[in-house]
Amino acid sequence: MARLITLVESGDRALSEIAAELGPDSVKAVVVGITGSPGVGKSTTTNELVKALRRTGKRVGVLAVDPSSPFTGGAILGDRVRMQDHATDPGVYIRSMSSRGHLGGLAAATPAAARVLAGAGCDYVLVETVGVGQAEVEIASLADTTLVLLAPGMGDAIQAVKAGILEIADIFVVNKSDRDGADATVRDIQGMIALGASEREPGQWRPRVLKTSAAKGEGIDAVVEALEDHRRWLEQSGELDKRRQHRAAAEIEALALGELRARFTELPGEDLQTLAVEVAEGRLDPYAASMRLLEQIS
Ligand code: GDP
Repeated sequence: MARLITLVESGDRALSEIAAELGPDSVKAVVVGITGSPGVGKSTTTNELVKALRRTGKRVGVLAVDPSSPFTGGAILGDRVRMQDHATDPGVYIRSMSSRGHLGGLAAATPAAARVLAGAGCDYVLVETVGVGQAEVEIASLADTTLVLLAPGMGDAIQAVKAGILEIADIFVVNKSDRDGADATVRDIQGMIALGASEREPGQWRPRVLKTSAAKGEGIDAVVEALEDHRRWLEQSGELDKRRQHRAAAEIEALALGELRARFTELPGEDLQTLAVEVAEGRLDPYAASMRLLEQIS
């Protein structure tokens, strides 16, 4: 699995063969996106979720994705700590991931790695993103269920609105509820969900808001229950298919665009650089130049 995911990261050409071999098993896992500001307790919560899922006999893969650093060069510190907890458990696989050379970037690499884990028999794939920027939100949204972590007193609720997290969250988890202010954060979030309620069509999922104290292992079972409830809703409402199609579309598009970009740089004739010189000197307009570039690619 480690080698396969390294191939995914580097976007090795051998991937297309492997992807074809993976077949239908590769889409069987439940993919859960976990996002939130640094320090809210994502690693701790993910670790507790792994334990809870293992207690029910599920096999779990964890992908820790850091879009802001292209070269993680293997496991990040949090991973090593977590790996120690599960080092002897063959039912858990934890891996941090970057997109060193992947054509489609993380938008394509993450679903590809999730398929590898599913193909290898993981029932759950937890995709943890480090940070709260647009890229992280995008990756988290490529999941079946998106979990957004907040902590009391960090102004996170406002941050969440800014980053567009509110729109993608299926489950809000207010972690560190052993600290003051957790109830106020829960109320803030519930208030925002209520505001959006009028736009929600009947039968749509209303985001849950839960409190946990991951460091103490408290509230985690309720998160697992909410994941299962959401899963049932996804299946009954037909939303699961829609989300997976959205994910597949994002992956295909990212791959195709990456492939195009790679071909631009390999053009023998009028390449990007030659055209750029002409445009910069005013001999050609950029629209015509882009068309010429595209025409050379079959
Ligand atoms: P991440 O950056 O979001 O992955 O956060 P971590 O899981 O690394 O946690 C950041 C810090 O918060 C660590 O020192 C954790 O021990 C601590 N932490 C995590 N969960 C809780 C919690 O429920 N309560 C308290 N008080 N601290 C926590």
